[in-house]
Amino acid sequence: MKKIIAIASGKGGVGKSTLAANLAVSLANFSPEGSRPPKVALIDVDFYGPSIPTLMGGGECKVDANEKFIPALRHGVKFISIQFFLQNPDDPVIWRGPMFGKGINQLFNDVSWGEVDICLVDLPPGTGDAQLSLAQLVQLDGAVIVTTPQEVSLADVRKAVKMFDKVQVPVLGVVENMAGFKTSSGEVEHIFGQGGGEKLAGDYGLEFFGSIPIETAIREGGDTGKPAALAKDSCFHQIAEKLNFAVEKRAAETPQVKIMN
Ligand code: ADP
Repeated sequence: MKKIIAIASGKGGVGKSTLAANLAVSLANFSPEGSRPPKVALIDVDFYGPSIPTLMGGGECKVDANEKFIPALRHGVKFISIQFFLQNPDDPVIWRGPMFGKGINQLFNDVSWGEVDICLVDLPPGTGDAQLSLAQLVQLDGAVIVTTPQEVSLADVRKAVKMFDKVQVPVLGVVENMAGFKTSSGEVEHIFGQGGGEKLAGDYGLEFFGSIPIETAIREGGDTGKPAALAKDSCFHQIAEKLNFAVEKRAAETPQVKIMN
């Protein structure tokens, strides 16, 4: 895997998995004109709430002749989730800390990923075992932090920023989700506040990748497994472009070779 990027948030429910799925789809299907579309992978490490299969439209995981798992493929993205390994789809994952490392190892190393240019990793919210295990086991190229504009989310994001700093994973950018809702009369209501993500990015000297409004199409796209980023005019493309640019810029600053699988 050439580049591995964690999609993280301090708090749950802010749209981290939605962003991960839509960014993966955008990267795989809407690369800048004239450039080769990257080979994109998406790994669902949100063990307690694995929603990537729902967001991507299902999928299952088979085993190849070498006894490696074959990732699911939808919308041009290869993906895997702990959800595929549960006996019953409604079974919870009840794990203590050390299990996270084993799970992460399996999702990266026991899967026949083939060539991958960029892999997005959907983390659980917070600053716990999963985040630490991932940072220790995988050479992350960076993290994208998702927040809503409201203080209760921003407070937890500050902790996440500090955690990534401690484990020496660069935060490439901040995305503000649920930033305003356009009513039927055309007015924008800032249900979760306004500008908090951009301000936080400024306070920590981080790049602000942009805002995503609350849209029925984004929620519906998630529930039906057809991510909103499949649309040509989706607001996710601009954010994907900024992420791409940030990844390239950092690679140019710190050239490195990574071999996995
Ligand atoms: P997290 O991964 O942070 O827990 P999710 O991606 O699961 O959050 O999103 C939580 C809920 O909010 C989901 O029901 C999702 O469909 C919805 N959602 C996320 N972002 C948006 C948005 N921009 N507009 C509308 N609904 C959204």
